[in-house]
Amino acid sequence: MNPEERYLSAIKDAQALVQQLAQGPRKTATLSPEVAEMLAGLSVAAGETTAVPSASPAPATAPPGANTSLRDLAEIVRGCQQCSLHETRTQTVFGVGNENADLVFVGEAPGADEDAQGEPFVGKAGQLLTDIITKGMKMRREDVYICNVLKCRPPNNRNPNPAEMSCCEPYLIQQLAQIKPKVICALGGVAAKCLLQTEDGVGRLRGQWHNYQGIPLRVTYHPAYLLRTPSDKGKTWADIQEVMKVLSGEISPQI
Ligand code: SF4
Repeated sequence: MNPEERYLSAIKDAQALVQQLAQGPRKTATLSPEVAEMLAGLSVAAGETTAVPSASPAPATAPPGANTSLRDLAEIVRGCQQCSLHETRTQTVFGVGNENADLVFVGEAPGADEDAQGEPFVGKAGQLLTDIITKGMKMRREDVYICNVLKCRPPNNRNPNPAEMSCCEPYLIQQLAQIKPKVICALGGVAAKCLLQTEDGVGRLRGQWHNYQGIPLRVTYHPAYLLRTPSDKGKTWADIQEVMKVLSGEISPQI
């Protein structure tokens, strides 16, 4: 195989891999700008270089680099138009709290209050989360980091659809990679499904430790659910107590 044939063979393999990823459970393939451009612009037909359809539904623009700071990432998110939610948002809701936090809470998506104020968990559900942090955990809200899977509000607070989650997920991944918390607490099914790539619900996932990129992850109910179902508050408190044990060093989950 001459160098040109080897190059075309590598391109062919890469294209096949991207298409395979795009058909997987995430329905998307995350590429660097350079690779995305290269794959979109090259054909594997020997001796010719012509345009081929890209392996959709990859994001329209490549995700930020691994070393993008949270501040720069928030700026990128502020201008993001990768899914249709940008058309109806008042503003993006990136995240709030200590950028070196040991604990990150991940919720679902901004609601009306969050969309208006630009901060996650500020409505009634947010007050409950604040109570859990301050009254239950005896921590300050600003000691932890709080964010959502989606950075823009879905109209009428409907559930995020898979395409929206795929588009927005790289921002969450980048946030967690930058913060490197000791523990992650997924609030509700949407966050759990996104972070653990599972279809199981909260009832099945809670009560045990999970592994997110080597970080212990606990799943518990979303505060909005607890407002509707106060009888499950005790289960969430049990989950939070486990989180506190990791934060204090009392336990080190085998994940
Ligand atoms: S929800 Fe996420 S991907 Fe969609 S426009 Fe907002 S920031 Fe971009």
